[in-house]
Amino acid sequence: CGIVAYIGKKEAYPILVKGLQRLEYRGYDSAGVVMLNQGDLNLYKKAGKVADLKHFAGDQDIAGTIGIGHTRWATHGVPNDVNAHPHLSHSGRLALIHNGIIENYATIKEQLKKRGFEFKSDTDTEVLVNLIEEVQQKENLSLEDAVRIALNEVVGAYAIVVIDRTDENVLVAARKGSPLVVGVGKDEYFVASDASPIIEYTKNVVYLDDQEYAVIPRNGRMQVKTLGNVEKTPFIEELEMD
Ligand code: GLU
Repeated sequence: CGIVAYIGKKEAYPILVKGLQRLEYRGYDSAGVVMLNQGDLNLYKKAGKVADLKHFAGDQDIAGTIGIGHTRWATHGVPNDVNAHPHLSHSGRLALIHNGIIENYATIKEQLKKRGFEFKSDTDTEVLVNLIEEVQQKENLSLEDAVRIALNEVVGAYAIVVIDRTDENVLVAARKGSPLVVGVGKDEYFVASDASPIIEYTKNVVYLDDQEYAVIPRNGRMQVKTLGNVEKTPFIEELEMD
């Protein structure tokens, strides 16, 4: 139900948790974060409140300057720790957060199972992260290409953010039917379901359009493309202060 992501020079965890608290008004049943640090995805997720997640994760390894966080409103699979987001891919290479519903998840799940993929949760989301991993590994593709190709096989509505254990320098975010906004800071980027987690850090935002994705680097300029692989010029808007 709520998405927050960060890449930059600051520690990601406090920004993610604060952002999730700003999104609490949307309603949710579970919360989770994953930080990528020196090749490790450190994942903490729990049914319950963001405060419970903080209590659980706060004294563990939460270091890292890239991470993604989520509050879940369950649609597929009961609200429990395993079904909470982020979800990791089968090999542990990718981590993904998702708002929305993947309508054809059951068909894709069956196909992936036949090819040896195992699933821990009952969510549609875990199917998507594994589909991306399969596409990525089959042809040794970049994360960006794998996300685009996988999303073209998916029916449904989504806002997602994906990170790859082998590359601390990029976030990929995409949307169809669910809102997603990128905050453009100085040497840092934020991604969220709405501007409320972003506004205290930067007023410059890019709202992704439907069927678009963003490739967000640690250093340099973000790219926005359509799911048809056509590059667009990101339109940076200034948020108005209340
Ligand atoms: N369909 C996903 C799930 O049930 C995402 C739900 C959401 O938007 O929070 O886990």
